[in-house]
Amino acid sequence: MLFVDCPLCDDVAPFDAATGELDCEACGVRLEVAPDATRAELAFAA
Ligand SMILES: [Zn+2]
Repeated sequence: MLFVDCPLCDDVAPFDAATGELDCEACGVRLEVAPDATRAELAFAA
């Protein structure tokens, strides 16, 4: 399981790379993230 910054609240949220879904408990939302955008963002963060 990966963790990324939620784009809505900037809290850390678990990201399921298999489904491309970010599940933020703080917001109570589940976001679908485009795989390409996610990969670019993770590469940038690293
Ligand atoms: Zn959030």
